[in-house]
Amino acid sequence: MYRRMSAPDPALLRKLEILADAAKYDASCASSAAPKRDSRKGGLGSTEGMGICHAYTPDGRCVSLLKILLTNACIFDCAYCISRASSNVPRARFTVEEVVGLTLDFYRRNFIEGLFLSSGIIRSPDYTMEQLVRVAKSLRLDHGFKGYIHLKTIPDASPELLAEAGLHADRLSINIELPQEASLKALAPEKDFADIRKAMAGLRVRIDEAKAEKRAPRFSPSGQSTQMMVGADGADDRTILGTATNLYGSYGLRRVYYSAYSPIPDASKALPPAAPPLIREHRLYQSDWLLRFYGFALDEIVPAGPDAMLDLEADPKLSWALRNRAFFPVDVNRAPREALLRVPGLGVKTVDRIIASRRHAALRWDDLARLRVPLRKLRPFLVTADATPGALLDRADLRRLVLPAGGMAAQAAPRQMSLL
Ligand code: SF4
Repeated sequence: MYRRMSAPDPALLRKLEILADAAKYDASCASSAAPKRDSRKGGLGSTEGMGICHAYTPDGRCVSLLKILLTNACIFDCAYCISRASSNVPRARFTVEEVVGLTLDFYRRNFIEGLFLSSGIIRSPDYTMEQLVRVAKSLRLDHGFKGYIHLKTIPDASPELLAEAGLHADRLSINIELPQEASLKALAPEKDFADIRKAMAGLRVRIDEAKAEKRAPRFSPSGQSTQMMVGADGADDRTILGTATNLYGSYGLRRVYYSAYSPIPDASKALPPAAPPLIREHRLYQSDWLLRFYGFALDEIVPAGPDAMLDLEADPKLSWALRNRAFFPVDVNRAPREALLRVPGLGVKTVDRIIASRRHAALRWDDLARLRVPLRKLRPFLVTADATPGALLDRADLRRLVLPAGGMAAQAAPRQMSLL
């Protein structure tokens, strides 16, 4: 029976340190730009520090999650992974009861609103999955835990165990790991692309059934997600985004998370010695968004070719606009929604506000300024009631004119937060 911790147990804290640190390599729950409170400076209810990540619930709330591994002692030997069997790192393993206890304790202290739990493979995929399910089941059934639970599932585990996981978890995820089957074979020989896809397909069927059938038991109501590593193999950005597009279409994924490969100690020679620039990961997220919500096709984002990489200096929408100047300028007062969504600097919410406002009066440049949009970026691409870009679109130095001040550093992506 779990009892609330009165004083921190040093052995448990050491495990937490190891297993929260090992979990930070998994990007499949999103960090966010939530307000930061730092427990290292004292105070209760911190959302900052190793071991905390954020996720969005189906009703749009942003929740902070305790993000840990059950163990980092894995019997598999995936070359890119710090927890692989041949890795020379301190190992630790929580018991099911310890994870349940920590989750409840942090929850009651208001540190977290849920749990993100993953694990190295312990004895077998089934044994590991059983342990993960036991944590979720105990939280829900023994302790009436109503917080958010995200379980990382093991693709080779039996469908029955995956089915049970979905009854207790809000979200399930299975990592596709790498964008190309050949790379997975080379770097993670114990894993199988086909098995991963089969497990995703099985989850999709159960998630769809639970949604369609009112009386069906709940099953992973926040859907399923996956993570793909960027920069560990030679896959170009077009290949990465092509795989993501295929996964969204085939398995109804809620999110594909892109995780820039970070070099690990004693890494295999097959891996690159340096991490890819963080901005590459950021550009992939922006492109993913354009593909899903802005009506762009893969060919528009990264045209096929020998060097099918995203532009690191310009965001993918701006990059497209610079390659397709004939599409512009777009009239802010007349253009259809789809055309406005293609204007660099205009997001979905701003476009919807523009459409609502222009019903009452023709929009002028000052009206756009009030919407807090990046005017410098917009100017060459938009016509308002009182302004046209004139010859701006034809200027040879247009790219320099619209690139953000401060360059790429000004656009860095947010990093994983920390609990300890
Ligand atoms: S199975 Fe997972 S934890 Fe184990 S080595 Fe591979 S990636 Fe790492």
